[in-house]
Amino acid sequence: MRLATIRTATGNRAVRVDGDTATETGDADVRALLEHTDWRDRAAAAAGPAHQVADLDYAPLVPSPEKIICVGLNYRDHVLEMGNELPEYPTVFAKYAPALVGAHDDVVLPAVSDNVDWEAELTVVIGSSVRHATPETAKAAIAGYTVMNDVSVRDWQNRTKQFLQGKTFEHSTPLGPWLVTSDEVPEGGLPISTTLDGETVQSSSTAELVFGPVDLVVYLSTILTLNPGDVIATGTPGGVGHARKPPRYLTDGAVLVTTVEGVGELRNTCRAEKR
Ligand code: ZN
Repeated sequence: MRLATIRTATGNRAVRVDGDTATETGDADVRALLEHTDWRDRAAAAAGPAHQVADLDYAPLVPSPEKIICVGLNYRDHVLEMGNELPEYPTVFAKYAPALVGAHDDVVLPAVSDNVDWEAELTVVIGSSVRHATPETAKAAIAGYTVMNDVSVRDWQNRTKQFLQGKTFEHSTPLGPWLVTSDEVPEGGLPISTTLDGETVQSSSTAELVFGPVDLVVYLSTILTLNPGDVIATGTPGGVGHARKPPRYLTDGAVLVTTVEGVGELRNTCRAEKR
């Protein structure tokens, strides 16, 4: 199944997407849907108002997650291009909900930086609460996968050793368009890419992940309980603009397309912040 959160004239709604049609589930968003322990049956049986997929206005897949956990330096090719050694433990940082935008929304380039960069990421969505997960319970707790571009303000990210200030600028981070349930995501490595104005700038495979989704749920659930609607962005492959010589960054009007094959595609226009 594919599940999304859309904006309607009367507010956000969770929908099940089948082909050209999206059907409301009766929930305000995908997090609210996943908070039903029988969310699979509930979504499968949904028969609410229907919408044409071509007309959908996607909200961030989970507009207000309890947690947005991001993993840095988690692709072999990206770790090596940034001049780092393969990690013993995951690098973990967070974002806040105001950073999120929908799959086709504008990405805001903050006025205080000319160093805004792209990071395509396969993203895990949690479907049931889990603490101290084993690999088996971790797998069962994953509802499915979506796509994030962890748009990063590099000069702010690198002001200190902690990444957060460069990672959670308002309206910077597209998340969506939908969640594909785990049973429908192909096993093995998925092609992952970013294009900028049609030019491919990142192209890799999730087979390059150092810590995979199950590893990350096991690790993070040792720290705290993961809950329905929590998202874990698993890190980005090589090809980011900051590692290029000369470096390359996002500019006003650039069209950023972020794809994980078998999961989904984000298509966002970058817009300079207006104050
Ligand atoms: Zn990232």
